[in-house]
Amino acid sequence: MRKGAKPVDIEVVIARVKDLECEVQMNIGTERTVIAVLGANTGELDTGVFEVLPNVEQVVRMQKPYKLASRDFKKDNSVVKVGNIEIGGNQLVTMAGPCAVEDRETTLACARLAKKCGAQFLRGGAFKPRTSPFAFQGLGEEGLKILAEARDETGLLIVTEVTSEQDVQLIAGYADILQIGARNMQNYRLLDAVGKAHKPVLLKRGLTATIDEWLMAADYILRCNGDQPNVILCHRGIRTFDNSTRFTFDVGVIPVLRQLTHLPIITDPSHTAGKFQYVPSYAKMAVAGDTDGLIIEIHPNPKKALCDGAHSLTFSDFARLCSELRVLALAAGRSM
Ligand code: PEP
Ligand code: MN
Repeated sequence: MRKGAKPVDIEVVIARVKDLECEVQMNIGTERTVIAVLGANTGELDTGVFEVLPNVEQVVRMQKPYKLASRDFKKDNSVVKVGNIEIGGNQLVTMAGPCAVEDRETTLACARLAKKCGAQFLRGGAFKPRTSPFAFQGLGEEGLKILAEARDETGLLIVTEVTSEQDVQLIAGYADILQIGARNMQNYRLLDAVGKAHKPVLLKRGLTATIDEWLMAADYILRCNGDQPNVILCHRGIRTFDNSTRFTFDVGVIPVLRQLTHLPIITDPSHTAGKFQYVPSYAKMAVAGDTDGLIIEIHPNPKKALCDGAHSLTFSDFARLCSELRVLALAAGRSM
């Protein structure tokens, strides 16, 4: 819309879009409003239909397969607000905690340490997507209650995974951020369901997903978000021919995403490394490489962890890493 277009001009466009049985999503910027017209990309809808309406400045057919996640739709970086924390602003965020919520003591110990080290979020899976059905599957709702107790005590916000549509309401009742794991990135019904929960979503990159596929998955959630984008992308390594690390570190994706999307980016150095020895270096690369934050697995006794002990950091290793990262963040023009 032209600068200074009136609400009535916008309403006329929206009415026309609805007549044509397309969906609409708004990006209300400080300078101007952009209206996304969303429908099957058949090329049959003539852009002239909108060009003739009052105070429409320009009609652009979006060439990218993803729409709402695209910079073409929203030029400025999105900042996702969770409680009083901003993800995607100048301050880098830290999310830390065990892979799985195993019990009360371990989880509370992780939360206290994370808080002491300056983290804003406690992570921990209550519903775990395990590759083997015989592996520990998580404590379910009991795990959510433990996370809530840790939040009450420390003030840390909770990020935890949703693996099934049927658990969305339950988990949304406890979590501050809903995590979609790599194995569910293209579980479209689940993406719809978390979108409808109107909570921030941490969307992990699928093991073999292209960036286009990842951003289209983000569109599923954004489509339900209304005018306030609530998706945080999380890269966590991808599968390649090289099996010397659990996944290949896709840190190079950050500048690519910066160009293509307005969404904030979080780095998971833990799952990509698969070995605790590599986690600090990967975390540092990400901070130097313009990430908006980190999600890191920690455990008081990694050797005894029920899940992902091999890449979980001990408390002392995590504390040391956090102080090293703060210096790096400063050099990168960010605070941490
Ligand atoms: C996790 O964060 O606990 C997890 C299972 O990660 P991913 O989905 O990236 O494998
Ligand atoms: Mn894990």
